[in-house]
Amino acid sequence: MKQTDILIIGAGISGAVLAERYASIGKKVLVIEKRSHIAGNCYDYTDENGILVSKYGAHLFHTNDQTVWRYVNQFSDWYPWEHKVKARVDGKSVPIPVNITTVNELFGLSIEDEQQMKVWLEENRIPISRPRNGKEAVLNRVGAVLYEKMFRHYTKKQWDKYPEELDASVLERIPVRTNFDDRYFSDECQALPAGGYTQLFENMLDHPNIEILLDTDYLETKNHYSGYEKLFYTGPIDRFFEFTGQLTEKLEYRSIYFAKETIDAEYFQENSVVNYPGTDTRYTRIVEYKHFGNQKSSKTTIVKEYTTDEGEPYYPVPNPKNQEIYSSYKTLAEQLPDIHFVGRLANYKYFNMDEAFKNALDLFENLQDKNTLKTAG
Ligand code: UDP
Repeated sequence: MKQTDILIIGAGISGAVLAERYASIGKKVLVIEKRSHIAGNCYDYTDENGILVSKYGAHLFHTNDQTVWRYVNQFSDWYPWEHKVKARVDGKSVPIPVNITTVNELFGLSIEDEQQMKVWLEENRIPISRPRNGKEAVLNRVGAVLYEKMFRHYTKKQWDKYPEELDASVLERIPVRTNFDDRYFSDECQALPAGGYTQLFENMLDHPNIEILLDTDYLETKNHYSGYEKLFYTGPIDRFFEFTGQLTEKLEYRSIYFAKETIDAEYFQENSVVNYPGTDTRYTRIVEYKHFGNQKSSKTTIVKEYTTDEGEPYYPVPNPKNQEIYSSYKTLAEQLPDIHFVGRLANYKYFNMDEAFKNALDLFENLQDKNTLKTAG
């Protein structure tokens, strides 16, 4: 039997933030992690080619939130990194998000400025005042031709659903630019941790009050822990209630199969991520890790990403049906005042990294405020 003040399930972003915060105020924290490593899906390592690679897909940190930015800077140096993505369309490599260059290259045009690009968009988009799903969101922004070339099939490969079967918010993650800006994100802070994400997490969790149990499935060992005042669960919410015998219906998640290859050449592709939005490949994108931070090696490592139903859950699938199922779990969760469901899988939300940090930081602050009120009362 293990005694602790705070029990945390999962050593990803949410778990690590809460562990760090509670340890810093003198609480004894026990982190239970099912996998053999910390850092959740941010986990990275140096591979056989001497290249820092991410085991679960590229993670690009970007935020406009100064609280989050200051917080992450306590645990690592960061170097500026503006992510850029190309998409292979009609045998060409064009920027995504769609910008002036994308349109010029795909349609043989020579748009020169914002004004002309806005005119092009007005002539091509199909105005829909309140897009109800991903298809309407894209048609409203860029029209039918780019929808077909760049979004429809990519989305089907990524989600096994067409855009009309997903919330508009999924496709609205990607902006459309009326200028030449070819950055994937436009946030003020865009950076990567100098020593990698795993080192960032090691630094967050490096505290005498924190104990971590790896290779341990909490739900199968839940009777081994006692004395805790709070439990933070960051795994899939439906799996939690499956173990309490309250599973009503499974939520959908998408997973990714990563096919890693070494190429005996200095570079394989022109930049870190190339998307394949066509039907000619089953993979959605190829990531070439050595581009991140301009790493040096005589060889290069590439990873083809195939999304699947099976395997570790990475993405919640945002649509009305899943939202309804999630709501019923949320109601059950709210009846457990000392158990907190945190993060992408437990909140069934497509959080970006900074949102996951923010959410966990806010939860800690709110619980501390409540505590203060209770003590004062
Ligand atoms: N998407 C697309 N074509 C692309 C890139 C993205 O259709 O070339 C769509 C797809 O549905 C994807 C969504 O836009 O799931 C959001 O893309 P994002 O890059 O944010 O996905 P993530 O990096 O989280 O996998």
